[in-house]
Amino acid sequence: MIPRSAIAPLLLLPMPLLSGCREYLRPATREWAVMGTFAAVSVPYGDSAKLDRYVLEARQFFARVNHTLTVYSPSSELAAVNRAAGSEAVRVGNLTGEAIAAALKYAGLSDGYFDPTVAPLVQKWGFNDGTAPSSAPSPHEIEAILGRTGFAQVRLSPAREQDRPGNWQVELALPGMSLDLGGVAKGFAVDRCFERIRNMGASDVMVNLGGNIRCSGTARPDRPWRIGVRNPFDNSQMLGVLEIPDGWSVASSGNYERYIMIDGKRYTHIINPRTGYPVAGMAGVTVTAATAVEADAMSTAFFVMGPDEAQRILPRLPGCQVLFVKDEQPPVLWITPGFGRLFKAEPEFAESVRLLH
Ligand code: ADP
Ligand code: MG
Repeated sequence: MIPRSAIAPLLLLPMPLLSGCREYLRPATREWAVMGTFAAVSVPYGDSAKLDRYVLEARQFFARVNHTLTVYSPSSELAAVNRAAGSEAVRVGNLTGEAIAAALKYAGLSDGYFDPTVAPLVQKWGFNDGTAPSSAPSPHEIEAILGRTGFAQVRLSPAREQDRPGNWQVELALPGMSLDLGGVAKGFAVDRCFERIRNMGASDVMVNLGGNIRCSGTARPDRPWRIGVRNPFDNSQMLGVLEIPDGWSVASSGNYERYIMIDGKRYTHIINPRTGYPVAGMAGVTVTAATAVEADAMSTAFFVMGPDEAQRILPRLPGCQVLFVKDEQPPVLWITPGFGRLFKAEPEFAESVRLLH
């Protein structure tokens, strides 16, 4: 997870600055850099005295998650799990155990379109500290790497009564396997942070980690939290604005944020675990869901599967709503009906909205 690359513009943009929101009523926000991206906590105007305490909590917590789950440091728990692939089970603490459990849950629910064992493929294609290849890997190479992927090869057993609390065991069954929590860790961290801040007494607050956003209460007594969804083809422009109900989350996946060029062709950082190739044909996906971890994992999964397969999978995810923008011109905004109830397209895209049934 946790790209070191320069911070790319995100597809989601909190909207305190929308017209009609006068200066003195703006939510108060603090922002800082972490996990190769940025984090932010916002509270409504008038609550700003509480903000420093929430920010301190969030800063410490996100730093701990990063330290535990980064694959960029050999001393993280996740790196130890990956080193032991094909040889032995590794004991890990609650954060790692629960993050892996969440990744496996969404791997199952998405029929493997989300798969945290794509790490060797992600690296082969030059992401997450991999070396960018000078030409596309051959089908033969991809086939060989696919042989050491598959979430069914991850064995996770939760802490047992007789163990010290917090001891989980995780084993990657195949030599050369490795886990990449980049598609789920930020959402997971947002949910845990959100719970901590709510336990401190917060009722109206927004937590944002690299565009993985969870909101509590409202931005003002008379208006919900609102998030702008950017046009994936032009990040200076917005497709529309999404209202986030109390307690809900939103996340996006896009092909214009992180990609590499090989022989003049663009390859995105999201891999289809079934083929081993970067996903082609999708520009951006935005998901709203009850938890940030669901929005994060499923935005990646929907990005891979596209709208047709999504309609088969969505009944498994009550409340989850999605917007698809395929990589074609002029852009069409495919949305589920529930997304439509929360989303207001900008006037120039109002005619481009289509409902998925
Ligand atoms: P970002 O990390 O840019 O916010 P995502 O949440 O969509 O975007 O996660 C993409 C990351 O997840 C990739 O950088 C990679 O580490 C990992 N990944 C890529 N493809 C998959 C996949 N099919 N399933 C699970 N994780 C993936
Ligand atoms: Mg994601």
